[in-house]
Amino acid sequence: MFCGCSAQHFRQPANTHLCPTCLGLPGSLPVPNQRAIEMTVLMALAVKAKINRRFFFERKNYFYPDLPKGYQISQHISPIGEGGTVPVLLGGKYVAVALHDIHLEEDTAKLEHHGDEVWIDFNRSGVPLVEVVTQPVLHSAAAAKAYVKRIQQLVRWLRISDADMEKGSMRLEANISLATRPSDGEEIELPSYRVEVKNLNSFRFLEKAINYEIERQKKIWQNGKQPVQETRGFDAQQGVTFGQRRKEVAKDYRYFPDPDIPPLELTSSAIARLRKQLPRLPWEEEKMWQERYGLDWQLSQTLVANDKAREFWQMLVPWIKNRDQAQKIAKLIVNKPDRWQGKKPAKFWQEWQKGQNERLGGAKLAEIVSQVIVEETKAVADYRRGKISALGYLVGQVQRLARGKADPREAQQLLQQELTNNG
Ligand SMILES: [Zn+2]
Repeated sequence: MFCGCSAQHFRQPANTHLCPTCLGLPGSLPVPNQRAIEMTVLMALAVKAKINRRFFFERKNYFYPDLPKGYQISQHISPIGEGGTVPVLLGGKYVAVALHDIHLEEDTAKLEHHGDEVWIDFNRSGVPLVEVVTQPVLHSAAAAKAYVKRIQQLVRWLRISDADMEKGSMRLEANISLATRPSDGEEIELPSYRVEVKNLNSFRFLEKAINYEIERQKKIWQNGKQPVQETRGFDAQQGVTFGQRRKEVAKDYRYFPDPDIPPLELTSSAIARLRKQLPRLPWEEEKMWQERYGLDWQLSQTLVANDKAREFWQMLVPWIKNRDQAQKIAKLIVNKPDRWQGKKPAKFWQEWQKGQNERLGGAKLAEIVSQVIVEETKAVADYRRGKISALGYLVGQVQRLARGKADPREAQQLLQQELTNNG
């Protein structure tokens, strides 16, 4: 973020991506990374946050072995983005998750625990880190998970990062506290504490940690006490959180503007240029398919979220003539990847259309109908006794043998004929 070291340090030998600046050696000076600032602005524009045209970096002071300078260069008073919302699909409708801010900082070094020893790898130290902070508006682990998945999708969409959690290029932190359920129409009164679970490296762990915390805190409340404000870790093997340290409050960090970095200003033309770079966003594309083709939200979300499926779909779109075709194609792409993967779109489309037009009738259909009548003795007997609904079942069996290609009306007529004539 403030030096020229490469951020591609995944699986690199420890302490090979270093310079005096990211090691915090005396006399080194930070120089802000323009591209990182632009990407943060892009992210802020995508979620319609207010851009702080004039912003500065601050020192967040604390002692920890992963922080050689004794402070982290971050943003506190003037984050690059303030507010904004992220549209998330929850329970079949779009919910706008309100953001607090989007700020830019430098990452810290990585601690590795080896038995009694703690080793420090500084490769990650000084890598740009964008923190996206929500308002306290998420009320379940499922909602939190849907939200962070959306953030990952957006970050990849905008080519800001691969947001790969295995590589540590996306990390999750959940702040959890329990409040009394408000009566209808009343606002939730926020509790005076929060528990932060840090360094969650998968969506599943986030969900588990939140659910675990909800239960743990509920028990404390039920015993007439209030949970303490603290930072907790998550033990993935046990599926439990454990206390790490009492959580600092903002004033403990003694934030102050970094005197080595002058305040920065984004010009209107720079912002306008970035705004032009904004592609159509995932939720905009989902809505587009919903509106144009009547795809349901689940289908359009899955289609847009999967790069390969989305690409294939987009190549077919010019040939799609109506909603019916669109629904069938979208479902097939999402549910049966083996039917299209590795195929050329033009070839796939030809085959698919041929398959659609193919209708089984005449002698072939009559053959299947006879077979069904022979095999389905019970349904046949039921029908002949006057149980009309058995006919539907028999048509279904014909359709099954015809692999869905039978003309349903013809199949029904043939069945009725056969059943009445040869009864
Ligand atoms: Zn460096």
